[in-house]
Amino acid sequence: MTTTLNLSVEIDGVSRPLRDCDWVLRRPCGCAEAIMHAVSSLVTLTSEHEAWEEFYCDVPRADRRRRAVNAARKRGYTVALTSIDDAVRAWEARCPHGEEPEPGQQASLFDPTDPADDAVDVNA
Ligand SMILES: [Zn+2]
Repeated sequence: MTTTLNLSVEIDGVSRPLRDCDWVLRRPCGCAEAIMHAVSSLVTLTSEHEAWEEFYCDVPRADRRRRAVNAARKRGYTVALTSIDDAVRAWEARCPHGEEPEPGQQASLFDPTDPADDAVDVNA
């Protein structure tokens, strides 16, 4: 006899199997930074906490990982469960907001209004 545990979740009032869901890590701008299957051959991620831990699993130590997660949340990153379809759509949409600049790197390397860049007149 085989026992199969079928977890299901309710998203926006719609019940769906957890294995049809992805966790989405979103940037402060709302765009997807990473997505992850809620159910894989390796893990079953049943809570937001577990999803955060898994998104930051490459941070070697538990205390550092917790600090990295807390720092990300403070910067406005969020983790939410969605259908795989929605997650893939979010993942495929390119972030139009640009990379979040690191502190101290906010100065532009070039001035886009610099007339030197317009030296070539294509209508000449
Ligand atoms: Zn964005």
